[in-house]
Amino acid sequence: MRVAIAGAGLAGLSCAKYLSDMGHTPIVLERRDVLGGKVAAWKDADGDWYETGLHIFFGAYPNMLQLFGELGIEDRLQWKEHTMIFNQPEAPGTYSRFDFPDLPAPLNGVMAILRNNDMLTWPEKIQFGIGLIPAMVQGQKYVEEMDKYSFSEWLKLKNIPPRVEKEVFIAMSKALNFINPDEISATILLTALNRFLQEKNGSKMAFLDGSPTERLCQPIVDYITDRGGEVRLNAPIKEFLLNEDGAVRGFEVRGIEGKSDEVLTADIYVSAMPVDPLKVMLPQPWREMEYFQQLNGLEGVPVINVHLWFDCKLTDIDHLLFSRSPLLSVYADMSNTCREYANPDRSMLELVLAPAKDWISKTDEEIVTATLKELENLFPDRFCGNKPAKLLKYHVVKTPRSVYKATPGRQNYRPSQITPIPNFYLTGDYTMQRYLASMEGAVLSGKLTAQAIASRQSQN
Ligand SMILES: Cc1cc2nc3c(=O)[nH]c(=O)nc-3n(C[C@H](O)[C@H](O)[C@H](O)COP(=O)(O)OP(=O)(O)OC[C@H]3O[C@@H](n4cnc5c(N)ncnc54)[C@H](O)[C@@H]3O)c2cc1C
Repeated sequence: MRVAIAGAGLAGLSCAKYLSDMGHTPIVLERRDVLGGKVAAWKDADGDWYETGLHIFFGAYPNMLQLFGELGIEDRLQWKEHTMIFNQPEAPGTYSRFDFPDLPAPLNGVMAILRNNDMLTWPEKIQFGIGLIPAMVQGQKYVEEMDKYSFSEWLKLKNIPPRVEKEVFIAMSKALNFINPDEISATILLTALNRFLQEKNGSKMAFLDGSPTERLCQPIVDYITDRGGEVRLNAPIKEFLLNEDGAVRGFEVRGIEGKSDEVLTADIYVSAMPVDPLKVMLPQPWREMEYFQQLNGLEGVPVINVHLWFDCKLTDIDHLLFSRSPLLSVYADMSNTCREYANPDRSMLELVLAPAKDWISKTDEEIVTATLKELENLFPDRFCGNKPAKLLKYHVVKTPRSVYKATPGRQNYRPSQITPIPNFYLTGDYTMQRYLASMEGAVLSGKLTAQAIASRQSQN
Protein backbone atom coordinates (compact mmCIF):
# COMPACT_ATOMS: atom_id res chain seq x y z
CA MET A 1 0.00 0.00 0.00
CA ARG A 2 1.00 3.60 -0.58
CA VAL A 3 0.53 5.47 2.69
CA ALA A 4 0.64 9.29 2.73
CA ILE A 5 1.74 10.67 6.11
CA ALA A 6 1.40 14.38 7.01
CA GLY A 7 4.29 15.39 9.33
CA ALA A 8 7.92 14.30 9.79
CA GLY A 9 8.10 14.49 13.59
CA LEU A 10 9.07 11.35 15.48
CA ALA A 11 5.53 9.91 15.26
CA GLY A 12 5.27 10.33 11.47
CA LEU A 13 8.79 8.97 10.91
CA SER A 14 8.22 6.02 13.27
CA CYS A 15 4.92 5.18 11.53
CA ALA A 16 6.68 5.29 8.15
CA LYS A 17 9.56 3.15 9.45
CA TYR A 18 7.27 0.39 10.72
CA LEU A 19 5.12 0.51 7.54
CA SER A 20 8.34 0.04 5.52
CA ASP A 21 9.15 -3.02 7.65
CA MET A 22 5.74 -4.45 6.69
CA GLY A 23 6.49 -3.98 2.99
CA HIS A 24 4.33 -0.87 2.44
CA THR A 25 5.44 2.38 0.78
CA PRO A 26 5.17 5.48 3.00
CA ILE A 27 5.35 9.00 1.58
CA VAL A 28 5.99 11.47 4.40
CA LEU A 29 5.13 15.12 3.71
CA GLU A 30 6.63 17.68 6.08
CA ARG A 31 5.49 21.31 6.13
CA ARG A 32 8.86 22.78 7.16
CA ASP A 33 12.37 22.57 5.68
CA VAL A 34 13.63 20.62 8.71
CA LEU A 35 12.97 17.11 10.03
CA GLY A 36 11.82 16.32 13.54
CA GLY A 37 8.95 18.65 14.53
CA LYS A 38 9.43 19.22 18.27
CA VAL A 39 12.92 17.66 18.15
CA ALA A 40 13.99 19.83 15.18
CA ALA A 41 17.38 21.58 15.39
CA TRP A 42 19.27 24.11 13.28
CA LYS A 43 22.93 24.98 12.70
CA ASP A 44 23.79 28.68 13.00
CA ALA A 45 26.34 30.60 10.89
CA ASP A 46 29.16 29.53 13.27
CA GLY A 47 28.25 25.86 12.87
CA ASP A 48 26.70 25.63 16.38
CA TRP A 49 23.46 23.68 16.84
CA TYR A 50 20.37 25.03 18.57
CA GLU A 51 17.26 22.98 19.25
CA THR A 52 13.51 23.16 19.80
CA GLY A 53 13.97 21.50 23.18
CA LEU A 54 16.50 20.03 25.56
CA HIS A 55 15.73 16.33 25.07
CA ILE A 56 16.37 13.52 27.54
CA PHE A 57 15.98 9.81 26.81
CA PHE A 58 15.00 7.55 29.72
CA GLY A 59 15.69 3.91 30.48
CA ALA A 60 11.88 3.58 30.68
CA TYR A 61 11.56 4.23 26.91
CA PRO A 62 11.39 0.66 25.52
CA ASN A 63 10.05 1.59 22.08
CA MET A 64 12.59 4.35 21.56
CA LEU A 65 15.46 2.09 22.65
CA GLN A 66 14.20 -0.66 20.35
CA LEU A 67 14.14 1.85 17.48
CA PHE A 68 17.76 2.86 18.16
CA GLY A 69 18.64 -0.86 18.10
CA GLU A 70 16.78 -1.48 14.82
CA LEU A 71 18.59 1.47 13.23
CA GLY A 72 21.95 0.26 14.59
CA ILE A 73 22.65 3.59 16.32
CA GLU A 74 22.55 2.63 20.04
CA ASP A 75 26.05 4.05 20.49
CA ARG A 76 24.63 7.54 19.90
CA LEU A 77 22.91 7.51 23.28
CA GLN A 78 25.24 8.86 25.95
CA TRP A 79 24.02 7.31 29.21
CA LYS A 80 24.71 9.30 32.37
CA GLU A 81 25.22 8.27 35.97
CA HIS A 82 21.98 6.98 37.55
CA THR A 83 21.09 10.02 39.61
CA MET A 84 18.78 13.06 39.68
CA ILE A 85 20.39 16.39 40.55
CA PHE A 86 18.47 19.36 41.93
CA ASN A 87 19.70 22.91 42.57
CA GLN A 88 19.13 24.14 46.12
CA PRO A 89 17.60 27.65 45.95
CA GLU A 90 18.25 28.26 49.64
CA ALA A 91 21.97 27.58 49.12
CA PRO A 92 22.77 29.04 45.66
CA GLY A 93 25.32 27.10 43.66
CA THR A 94 24.84 23.85 45.59
CA TYR A 95 23.15 20.62 44.57
CA SER A 96 21.16 17.85 46.14
CA ARG A 97 21.23 14.39 44.56
CA PHE A 98 19.03 11.31 44.43
CA ASP A 99 21.59 8.58 43.71
CA PHE A 100 20.17 5.25 42.54
CA PRO A 101 22.35 2.35 43.78
CA ASP A 102 22.91 -0.75 41.64
CA LEU A 103 20.03 -2.73 43.19
CA PRO A 104 16.82 -4.17 41.72
CA ALA A 105 13.72 -1.97 41.43
CA PRO A 106 11.94 -0.67 43.46
CA LEU A 107 14.73 -0.98 46.04
CA ASN A 108 17.11 1.31 44.13
CA GLY A 109 14.43 4.06 43.94
CA VAL A 110 13.44 3.67 47.57
CA MET A 111 17.12 3.88 48.58
CA ALA A 112 17.62 6.96 46.39
CA ILE A 113 14.76 8.71 48.21
CA LEU A 114 15.70 7.52 51.70
CA ARG A 115 19.36 8.51 51.36
CA ASN A 116 18.54 12.09 50.32
CA ASN A 117 18.32 14.14 53.50
CA ASP A 118 18.70 17.65 52.02
CA MET A 119 15.29 17.97 50.47
CA LEU A 120 12.83 15.88 52.50
CA THR A 121 12.56 15.05 56.19
CA TRP A 122 11.92 11.47 57.35
CA PRO A 123 8.20 12.08 58.16
CA GLU A 124 7.76 13.65 54.70
CA LYS A 125 9.42 10.67 53.00
CA ILE A 126 7.30 8.20 54.96
CA GLN A 127 4.04 10.07 54.27
CA PHE A 128 4.90 10.28 50.58
CA GLY A 129 5.86 6.57 50.44
CA ILE A 130 2.51 5.59 52.00
CA GLY A 131 0.69 7.82 49.49
CA LEU A 132 2.34 6.01 46.59
CA ILE A 133 1.32 2.50 47.69
CA PRO A 134 -2.00 2.35 45.72
CA ALA A 135 -0.22 3.45 42.53
CA MET A 136 2.45 0.77 42.99
CA VAL A 137 0.02 -2.00 43.96
CA GLN A 138 -2.91 -1.29 41.62
CA GLY A 139 -0.70 -0.01 38.80
CA GLN A 140 -1.90 1.85 35.70
CA LYS A 141 -5.63 1.39 36.45
CA TYR A 142 -5.30 3.50 39.62
CA VAL A 143 -2.98 5.94 37.88
CA GLU A 144 -5.57 6.54 35.12
CA GLU A 145 -8.36 7.02 37.69
CA MET A 146 -6.36 9.85 39.29
CA ASP A 147 -6.67 11.90 36.07
CA LYS A 148 -9.62 13.66 37.71
CA TYR A 149 -7.24 15.39 40.16
CA SER A 150 -4.39 17.82 39.73
CA PHE A 151 -1.16 16.59 41.34
CA SER A 152 -1.58 19.24 44.10
CA GLU A 153 -5.08 17.90 44.82
CA TRP A 154 -3.77 14.32 44.88
CA LEU A 155 -1.04 15.26 47.39
CA LYS A 156 -3.65 16.89 49.65
CA LEU A 157 -5.91 13.86 49.36
CA LYS A 158 -3.02 11.68 50.58
CA ASN A 159 -2.15 14.07 53.44
CA ILE A 160 1.31 14.55 52.00
CA PRO A 161 2.93 17.70 53.46
CA PRO A 162 2.97 20.74 51.08
CA ARG A 163 6.76 20.93 51.41
CA VAL A 164 7.07 17.71 49.34
CA GLU A 165 5.38 19.49 46.45
CA LYS A 166 7.52 22.59 46.85
CA GLU A 167 10.83 20.76 47.22
CA VAL A 168 10.51 18.07 44.54
CA PHE A 169 7.34 18.15 42.47
CA ILE A 170 7.24 21.70 41.13
CA ALA A 171 10.51 20.80 39.36
CA MET A 172 9.24 17.38 38.18
CA SER A 173 5.92 18.78 36.97
CA LYS A 174 7.61 21.56 34.99
CA ALA A 175 10.03 19.01 33.50
CA LEU A 176 7.24 16.67 32.40
CA ASN A 177 4.67 19.08 30.95
CA PHE A 178 6.00 22.65 31.38
CA ILE A 179 3.29 23.51 33.97
CA ASN A 180 3.02 23.57 37.78
CA PRO A 181 1.56 20.83 40.06
CA ASP A 182 -1.68 22.78 40.61
CA GLU A 183 -2.34 22.52 36.85
CA ILE A 184 -0.91 19.11 35.88
CA SER A 185 -3.01 15.94 36.05
CA ALA A 186 -1.97 13.55 38.83
CA THR A 187 -1.87 10.80 36.17
CA ILE A 188 1.21 12.37 34.55
CA LEU A 189 3.42 12.39 37.65
CA LEU A 190 2.13 9.05 38.93
CA THR A 191 2.83 7.44 35.54
CA ALA A 192 6.41 8.73 35.60
CA LEU A 193 6.92 7.76 39.25
CA ASN A 194 5.56 4.27 38.60
CA ARG A 195 7.93 3.73 35.68
CA PHE A 196 10.87 5.11 37.68
CA LEU A 197 10.12 2.93 40.70
CA GLN A 198 9.17 -0.27 38.92
CA GLU A 199 11.96 -0.48 36.35
CA LYS A 200 15.54 -0.66 37.56
CA ASN A 201 16.85 1.72 34.90
CA GLY A 202 13.56 3.57 34.35
CA SER A 203 14.92 6.93 35.52
CA LYS A 204 18.38 6.51 34.04
CA MET A 205 18.95 9.32 31.54
CA ALA A 206 20.77 9.62 28.24
CA PHE A 207 21.62 12.56 25.99
CA LEU A 208 21.90 12.12 22.24
CA ASP A 209 25.47 12.63 20.99
CA GLY A 210 24.46 15.44 18.59
CA SER A 211 21.41 17.14 17.10
CA PRO A 212 18.23 15.01 16.98
CA THR A 213 17.63 16.07 13.39
CA GLU A 214 20.93 14.64 12.12
CA ARG A 215 21.61 11.90 14.65
CA LEU A 216 18.11 10.40 15.06
CA CYS A 217 15.69 11.62 12.38
CA GLN A 218 18.06 11.31 9.41
CA PRO A 219 18.82 7.60 10.04
CA ILE A 220 15.06 6.92 10.13
CA VAL A 221 14.68 8.75 6.81
CA ASP A 222 17.58 6.74 5.32
CA TYR A 223 15.93 3.53 6.53
CA ILE A 224 12.62 4.50 4.89
CA THR A 225 14.12 5.64 1.58
CA ASP A 226 16.38 2.55 1.33
CA ARG A 227 13.17 0.49 1.31
CA GLY A 228 11.40 2.51 -1.38
CA GLY A 229 9.59 5.12 0.76
CA GLU A 230 9.91 8.90 0.51
CA VAL A 231 10.26 11.83 2.90
CA ARG A 232 9.64 15.29 1.40
CA LEU A 233 10.42 18.54 3.18
CA ASN A 234 8.72 21.86 2.26
CA ALA A 235 5.52 19.94 1.53
CA PRO A 236 2.73 21.45 3.67
CA ILE A 237 -0.65 19.76 3.50
CA LYS A 238 -3.19 22.44 2.73
CA GLU A 239 -6.36 20.36 2.79
CA PHE A 240 -7.67 16.83 3.24
CA LEU A 241 -9.75 16.27 0.06
CA LEU A 242 -12.79 14.04 0.54
CA ASN A 243 -14.86 11.70 -1.59
CA GLU A 244 -18.63 11.94 -1.39
CA ASP A 245 -18.68 9.14 1.20
CA GLY A 246 -16.45 11.22 3.54
CA ALA A 247 -13.31 9.10 3.02
CA VAL A 248 -10.06 10.79 1.94
CA ARG A 249 -9.55 11.27 -1.82
CA GLY A 250 -6.15 12.91 -1.53
CA PHE A 251 -3.87 15.31 0.34
CA GLU A 252 -3.66 18.73 -1.28
CA VAL A 253 -0.03 19.82 -0.93
CA ARG A 254 0.64 23.55 -1.11
CA GLY A 255 3.12 24.48 -3.85
CA ILE A 256 5.85 26.67 -2.45
CA GLU A 257 8.32 29.01 -4.19
CA GLY A 258 5.99 29.64 -7.14
CA LYS A 259 5.11 25.97 -7.71
CA SER A 260 1.45 25.07 -8.07
CA ASP A 261 -0.48 22.99 -5.56
CA GLU A 262 -0.43 19.24 -6.06
CA VAL A 263 -2.87 16.48 -5.09
CA LEU A 264 -1.16 13.42 -3.65
CA THR A 265 -3.19 10.23 -3.70
CA ALA A 266 -2.54 7.06 -1.73
CA ASP A 267 -4.33 3.96 -0.42
CA ILE A 268 -4.20 5.14 3.20
CA TYR A 269 -3.71 8.60 4.77
CA VAL A 270 -2.23 9.44 8.18
CA SER A 271 -2.09 12.73 10.09
CA ALA A 272 1.14 12.93 12.09
CA MET A 273 0.53 16.64 12.66
CA PRO A 274 0.26 18.04 16.19
CA VAL A 275 -3.30 18.28 17.48
CA ASP A 276 -3.58 22.11 17.17
CA PRO A 277 -3.03 22.41 13.39
CA LEU A 278 -5.00 19.19 12.83
CA LYS A 279 -8.09 20.68 14.51
CA VAL A 280 -7.94 23.66 12.15
CA MET A 281 -7.65 21.43 9.09
CA LEU A 282 -10.49 19.01 9.82
CA PRO A 283 -12.94 18.91 6.88
CA GLN A 284 -16.40 20.24 7.74
CA PRO A 285 -18.24 16.88 7.59
CA TRP A 286 -15.78 15.34 10.08
CA ARG A 287 -16.31 18.14 12.60
CA GLU A 288 -19.78 16.81 13.36
CA MET A 289 -18.35 13.44 14.48
CA GLU A 290 -17.89 12.74 18.18
CA TYR A 291 -14.49 11.17 17.55
CA PHE A 292 -13.10 14.38 16.03
CA GLN A 293 -14.97 16.64 18.47
CA GLN A 294 -12.96 15.14 21.34
CA LEU A 295 -9.84 16.79 19.88
CA ASN A 296 -11.28 20.15 21.05
CA GLY A 297 -10.34 19.09 24.59
CA LEU A 298 -6.62 19.12 23.74
CA GLU A 299 -4.39 22.16 23.28
CA GLY A 300 -0.62 22.64 23.11
CA VAL A 301 1.22 24.28 26.02
CA PRO A 302 3.80 27.06 25.42
CA VAL A 303 7.49 26.46 26.16
CA ILE A 304 10.79 28.21 25.40
CA ASN A 305 14.25 26.70 24.90
CA VAL A 306 17.15 29.09 25.63
CA HIS A 307 20.79 28.49 24.50
CA LEU A 308 23.60 30.54 26.01
CA TRP A 309 27.24 30.35 24.91
CA PHE A 310 29.85 31.64 27.43
CA ASP A 311 33.54 32.56 27.24
CA CYS A 312 34.45 30.16 30.06
CA LYS A 313 33.41 26.97 31.79
CA LEU A 314 30.56 27.33 34.32
CA THR A 315 30.44 23.74 35.58
CA ASP A 316 31.80 20.29 34.81
CA ILE A 317 28.54 18.50 35.69
CA ASP A 318 27.79 16.00 32.93
CA HIS A 319 24.06 15.57 33.59
CA LEU A 320 20.57 17.08 33.51
CA LEU A 321 19.90 19.58 36.30
CA PHE A 322 16.57 20.53 37.86
CA SER A 323 16.94 24.29 38.41
CA ARG A 324 14.10 24.70 40.95
CA SER A 325 13.87 28.26 39.71
CA PRO A 326 10.48 29.99 39.27
CA LEU A 327 11.49 31.01 35.74
CA LEU A 328 13.28 27.90 34.54
CA SER A 329 12.72 24.16 34.45
CA VAL A 330 15.56 21.75 33.61
CA TYR A 331 18.90 22.70 32.05
CA ALA A 332 22.25 21.18 31.10
CA ASP A 333 25.71 22.29 30.15
CA MET A 334 25.72 20.73 26.69
CA SER A 335 29.47 21.29 26.38
CA ASN A 336 29.75 18.44 28.93
CA THR A 337 26.74 16.26 28.12
CA CYS A 338 26.76 16.00 24.33
CA ARG A 339 29.72 14.75 22.25
CA GLU A 340 29.08 16.95 19.23
CA TYR A 341 28.62 20.11 21.33
CA ALA A 342 31.64 19.33 23.55
CA ASN A 343 34.02 22.13 24.52
CA PRO A 344 36.59 21.77 27.31
CA ASP A 345 36.95 25.56 27.75
CA ARG A 346 33.51 27.10 27.21
CA SER A 347 30.02 26.29 28.45
CA MET A 348 26.88 26.13 26.36
CA LEU A 349 23.83 26.05 28.59
CA GLU A 350 20.56 24.79 27.20
CA LEU A 351 17.70 25.82 29.52
CA VAL A 352 13.96 25.18 29.34
CA LEU A 353 11.85 28.18 30.39
CA ALA A 354 8.52 27.02 31.89
CA PRO A 355 5.71 27.82 32.56
CA ALA A 356 6.12 30.07 29.53
CA LYS A 357 2.66 31.59 29.06
CA ASP A 358 3.75 35.02 30.36
CA TRP A 359 7.02 34.91 28.40
CA ILE A 360 6.07 33.56 24.99
CA SER A 361 5.26 37.02 23.57
CA LYS A 362 8.34 38.72 25.11
CA THR A 363 11.40 39.54 23.02
CA ASP A 364 14.45 37.27 22.92
CA GLU A 365 16.43 40.02 24.70
CA GLU A 366 13.93 40.17 27.57
CA ILE A 367 14.00 36.38 27.89
CA VAL A 368 17.80 36.21 27.88
CA THR A 369 18.10 39.05 30.42
CA ALA A 370 15.71 37.27 32.82
CA THR A 371 17.54 33.95 32.30
CA LEU A 372 20.93 35.55 33.02
CA LYS A 373 19.48 36.99 36.24
CA GLU A 374 18.51 33.45 37.29
CA LEU A 375 22.05 32.24 36.62
CA GLU A 376 23.18 34.40 39.57
CA ASN A 377 21.37 31.86 41.77
CA LEU A 378 22.49 28.81 39.84
CA PHE A 379 26.16 29.81 39.43
CA PRO A 380 26.83 32.55 42.03
CA ASP A 381 30.62 32.11 41.73
CA ARG A 382 30.49 32.81 38.02
CA PHE A 383 28.01 35.70 37.95
CA CYS A 384 28.28 37.56 41.24
CA GLY A 385 32.07 38.13 41.38
CA ASN A 386 34.16 40.95 39.81
CA LYS A 387 34.83 39.03 36.62
CA PRO A 388 31.49 37.49 35.59
CA ALA A 389 31.29 34.94 32.81
CA LYS A 390 30.73 36.72 29.51
CA LEU A 391 27.81 35.78 27.29
CA LEU A 392 29.15 35.31 23.75
CA LYS A 393 25.88 34.64 21.94
CA TYR A 394 22.42 33.14 22.38
CA HIS A 395 19.51 31.55 20.56
CA VAL A 396 15.94 31.46 21.85
CA VAL A 397 13.45 28.97 20.35
CA LYS A 398 9.80 29.58 21.26
CA THR A 399 7.13 26.90 20.80
CA PRO A 400 3.77 28.58 21.50
CA ARG A 401 1.92 25.23 21.25
CA SER A 402 4.11 22.27 22.10
CA VAL A 403 2.88 19.01 23.65
CA TYR A 404 -0.77 18.97 24.77
CA LYS A 405 -1.34 20.59 28.15
CA ALA A 406 -1.96 17.64 30.47
CA THR A 407 -4.48 19.19 32.88
CA PRO A 408 -6.93 16.94 34.79
CA GLY A 409 -9.42 15.06 32.61
CA ARG A 410 -7.37 15.20 29.40
CA GLN A 411 -7.01 11.40 29.14
CA ASN A 412 -10.68 11.24 28.00
CA TYR A 413 -9.92 13.48 25.04
CA ARG A 414 -6.93 11.56 23.69
CA PRO A 415 -8.05 9.81 20.50
CA SER A 416 -7.26 6.28 19.39
CA GLN A 417 -5.04 5.97 16.31
CA ILE A 418 -8.02 4.43 14.46
CA THR A 419 -10.56 7.01 13.24
CA PRO A 420 -14.13 6.45 11.99
CA ILE A 421 -12.85 7.23 8.46
CA PRO A 422 -11.79 3.89 6.94
CA ASN A 423 -8.73 5.19 5.04
CA PHE A 424 -7.57 7.85 7.56
CA TYR A 425 -5.53 7.35 10.78
CA LEU A 426 -3.97 9.56 13.41
CA THR A 427 -0.54 9.33 14.98
CA GLY A 428 1.30 11.64 17.38
CA ASP A 429 2.29 11.90 21.03
CA TYR A 430 -1.19 13.21 21.96
CA THR A 431 -2.98 10.08 20.64
CA MET A 432 -3.78 7.39 23.21
CA GLN A 433 -0.76 5.36 24.27
CA ARG A 434 0.69 4.70 27.68
CA TYR A 435 3.74 7.00 27.54
CA LEU A 436 2.36 10.53 27.84
CA ALA A 437 3.40 13.30 25.45
CA SER A 438 7.06 12.45 24.95
CA MET A 439 9.49 11.14 22.35
CA GLU A 440 8.70 7.62 23.56
CA GLY A 441 4.96 8.36 23.22
CA ALA A 442 5.49 9.68 19.68
CA VAL A 443 7.52 6.62 18.59
CA LEU A 444 5.02 4.21 20.19
CA SER A 445 2.04 6.00 18.60
CA GLY A 446 3.72 5.69 15.18
CA LYS A 447 4.19 1.97 15.72
CA LEU A 448 0.57 1.52 16.91
CA THR A 449 -0.73 3.37 13.83
CA ALA A 450 1.35 1.17 11.50
CA GLN A 451 0.01 -1.94 13.26
CA ALA A 452 -3.59 -0.67 13.05
CA ILE A 453 -3.21 -0.04 9.31
CA ALA A 454 -1.75 -3.51 8.77
CA SER A 455 -4.44 -5.23 10.79
CA ARG A 456 -7.35 -3.42 9.08
CA GLN A 457 -5.78 -4.28 5.72
CA SER A 458 -5.52 -7.97 6.61
CA GLN A 459 -9.23 -7.99 7.58
CA ASN A 460 -10.27 -6.59 4.15
C1 LIG B 1 11.16 22.19 24.93
C2 LIG B 1 10.79 20.74 24.79
C3 LIG B 1 11.46 19.79 25.57
C4 LIG B 1 11.10 18.45 25.49
N1 LIG B 1 11.79 17.54 26.24
C5 LIG B 1 11.51 16.23 26.11
C6 LIG B 1 12.30 15.26 26.78
O1 LIG B 1 13.27 15.61 27.47
N2 LIG B 1 11.99 13.95 26.63
C7 LIG B 1 10.93 13.55 25.85
O2 LIG B 1 10.70 12.33 25.74
N3 LIG B 1 10.17 14.44 25.20
C8 LIG B 1 10.43 15.76 25.30
N4 LIG B 1 9.68 16.68 24.61
C9 LIG B 1 8.48 16.22 23.89
C10 LIG B 1 8.79 15.63 22.51
O3 LIG B 1 9.61 16.49 21.78
C11 LIG B 1 7.47 15.42 21.74
O4 LIG B 1 6.57 14.68 22.55
C12 LIG B 1 7.64 14.67 20.42
O5 LIG B 1 8.78 15.08 19.71
C13 LIG B 1 6.38 14.89 19.57
O6 LIG B 1 6.48 14.19 18.34
P1 LIG B 1 5.24 14.16 17.35
O7 LIG B 1 5.73 13.49 16.09
O8 LIG B 1 4.04 13.62 18.02
O9 LIG B 1 4.87 15.71 17.01
P2 LIG B 1 5.76 16.83 16.33
O10 LIG B 1 7.17 16.66 16.68
O11 LIG B 1 5.11 18.13 16.65
O12 LIG B 1 5.63 16.56 14.75
C14 LIG B 1 4.56 17.03 13.98
C15 LIG B 1 5.08 17.41 12.59
O13 LIG B 1 3.96 17.77 11.75
C16 LIG B 1 4.38 18.84 10.92
N5 LIG B 1 3.20 19.51 10.36
C17 LIG B 1 2.33 20.36 10.99
N6 LIG B 1 1.41 20.79 10.13
C18 LIG B 1 1.68 20.19 8.93
C19 LIG B 1 1.05 20.27 7.64
N7 LIG B 1 0.00 21.04 7.39
N8 LIG B 1 1.60 19.52 6.62
C20 LIG B 1 2.70 18.74 6.84
N9 LIG B 1 3.32 18.66 8.04
C21 LIG B 1 2.81 19.37 9.06
C22 LIG B 1 5.19 19.70 11.87
O14 LIG B 1 6.00 20.63 11.17
C23 LIG B 1 6.00 18.64 12.62
O15 LIG B 1 7.19 18.33 11.95
C24 LIG B 1 10.03 18.03 24.64
C25 LIG B 1 9.38 18.98 23.84
C26 LIG B 1 9.76 20.32 23.90
C27 LIG B 1 9.04 21.31 23.01
